[in-house]
Amino acid sequence: MTDQYAVVGHPIDHSKSPDIHAEFAKQTNQDITYEAIEAPLNGFVDTITRLAAEGYKGVNVTVPFKFEAYQCANHLRMPAKHAGAVNTLIFSDSNIIGDNTDGVGLVRDIEKNLHKPIQCKRVLMLGAGGAAEGVLHPVLNAAPSQLVVANRSVEKAVKMIEKVKSLVQYSSVDLGANTFDELKNQKFDIVINATSTGLSDTPLPIPNEIFADGCLAYDMMYGRETPFMAQAREAGARVSDGLGMLVEQAAEAFYCWRGVRPETDPVMKKMRA
Ligand code: NDP
Repeated sequence: MTDQYAVVGHPIDHSKSPDIHAEFAKQTNQDITYEAIEAPLNGFVDTITRLAAEGYKGVNVTVPFKFEAYQCANHLRMPAKHAGAVNTLIFSDSNIIGDNTDGVGLVRDIEKNLHKPIQCKRVLMLGAGGAAEGVLHPVLNAAPSQLVVANRSVEKAVKMIEKVKSLVQYSSVDLGANTFDELKNQKFDIVINATSTGLSDTPLPIPNEIFADGCLAYDMMYGRETPFMAQAREAGARVSDGLGMLVEQAAEAFYCWRGVRPETDPVMKKMRA
């Protein structure tokens, strides 16, 4: 019998996940379907309950439901607990298991695809929203020497750093929360833009000096050049968008459901084309 999966969000038309999972299934000979489902803004839990009852095996969850998915899971895997959000649900017997594969996806894209090891590097995370929080622990687990979170509302960055310190001891990492102004005279080897400014083409008030020699500037957004990417490129950084993260987080979700790890390289090439 064909196993059914879906991505649930609102809106959902833009989602590339059905194409990515169709490629994974073809490549690994898995007999599955994967569709995009728009849940009403006040109807996420009802949608999940219905899909589980209809025999779906799992779903990906996207904006704006990642926090509701966290609440609706009755068992949480560690990455989801740390992130406080869920992007992958696994329906198993009567259980709803919540996981979060965004952080693994980001770290794999940076380290495996872009060949930039995080270990002992100075990392700057711009933004303190859901995406930043979701990837913080996996980035820390990759052992940077320094991790600074800078955010427009700095109190959110402070809260995020305090939370991370209270959960796990990262004694070898120099952790900090800054305003954008405080970034003056600092340099980083990896700068990750986890703000949503790319969506509105808004430049960030960050100085060019933050991009150290050989810096990788990574924008989690994908699909077009953002003002952050343009600025980083001009400042001499190597630049990447977040398509690789999208494909890698999907591969990890596929592995959670099917126990098979698909090749991501050919899928990424196809998506870019
Ligand atoms: P949230 O709405 O949770 O957070 C938005 C963040 O952007 C906050 O830190 C906010 O700051 C900041 N921000 C928004 N507008 C401005 C501005 N004008 N100037 C400075 N900072 C601003 O969004 P998410 O965290 O969920 O998503 C962030 C981005 O990550 C999106 O572009 C999304 O597409 C991308 N993403 C990509 C994924 C992938 O697989 N590639 C996966 C998940 C997300 P403040 O706190 O001050 O409001």
